[in-house]
Amino acid sequence: MFALVTRFNADSDPIKVNLAPGTYKDPEGKPWVLPALQKAAEILLDTPTYNHEYLGIQGHLEFLRLAAQLTLGSSVSAVASLQTVGGTGACHIGAVFLKKLYDHTNKPLQVFISDPSWENHHAVFQHVGLQTRTYSMYDTQTKELDFVAMKATISAALEGSVIVLHACAHNPTGCDPSPEQWDELALLFKERELIAFFDSAYQGSIETFLRGDVQLLVAQSFSKNAGMYGERLGALHVPCPTSRAADHVVDILKAITRREISTPPRFAADLMTIVMSNPELFQEWTEDIRTMSNRLSDMRKELVETLRRLGTPGDWTHITKQRGMFSFTGLTAAQTRYLTDRCHIYLPPSGRLSVTGLTRLNMGYVTKSIDFAVRN
Ligand code: PLP
Repeated sequence: MFALVTRFNADSDPIKVNLAPGTYKDPEGKPWVLPALQKAAEILLDTPTYNHEYLGIQGHLEFLRLAAQLTLGSSVSAVASLQTVGGTGACHIGAVFLKKLYDHTNKPLQVFISDPSWENHHAVFQHVGLQTRTYSMYDTQTKELDFVAMKATISAALEGSVIVLHACAHNPTGCDPSPEQWDELALLFKERELIAFFDSAYQGSIETFLRGDVQLLVAQSFSKNAGMYGERLGALHVPCPTSRAADHVVDILKAITRREISTPPRFAADLMTIVMSNPELFQEWTEDIRTMSNRLSDMRKELVETLRRLGTPGDWTHITKQRGMFSFTGLTAAQTRYLTDRCHIYLPPSGRLSVTGLTRLNMGYVTKSIDFAVRN
């Protein structure tokens, strides 16, 4: 993905379109600073006691309390939370933690990752010496979630296996289980004693699994939902049976952090604490998220409508059924290569289209190019 962006940046043709970005772009295709975060920055910089002192090893404690409440709700009484370097850092520390725990047992630990998944998942877990496998979840024919296959491969996993789940807006397919299917999965996890590793890059709810008393970890990111990609704010949460157990887990997580980065970055944690603790700013943040989400769904609808008007062969309705920043279009590697090499439209060979790269200005050009790629 980074190589594709490098090619895009080097392309001097003014017609070029980037349909690969993992960061939200406004209706003019520009990066967006969320107004709620902008206001939080003004408040922070105006605070007389504002400074750049180190945080503690665990991170910003008030940020962690509010972040845990946001993702776990208020019913969880004991949780070990650690501030991390983005969602990737949370996945990494979670992986190191699991590896450490399992190194004390003689059991092999297997980590199951959806096929397909965020391209970094296998690498992050393998990097710490864990074995990864895949579980099915996507039907390439219907371009929808294949829940039967998903349940079948997850049920076959050994007891105690770790299953990485996308809390919402599955990357790259945009296909999430329905609330009823999440209920079924929670029961299955409990029955088979599987560990759920929620990658919550887009802030999904994991309440069903908490209610079902499933052992879980949550890797929470504030990159996408707060537009703070480069500030690298995330958190790892591990709900525990008792406060004593939570304290013990925190000690382990802190020992890992101390060796890797010593202490996590401060600025974004300060900002997010202001947003989450101020009811007006929290409300504004929710509206900012709605603004992003509405624009993405408008672009999905317009893409499908325009392809329909052009009579482009194929059924494109899956694009409006999928959710989140990406659409798994079903375009083939040859078609995406044509789009990139001949039309200056950049997207990966998997056909994953970043909906945020679409604007009213480039929609006509993009859809005509897709139409041509599909017909030829
Ligand atoms: N997990 C998933 C599923 C993602 O889509 C992404 C980013 O695209 C990440 C993790 C990484 O998040 P962060 O930028 O906070 O490290």
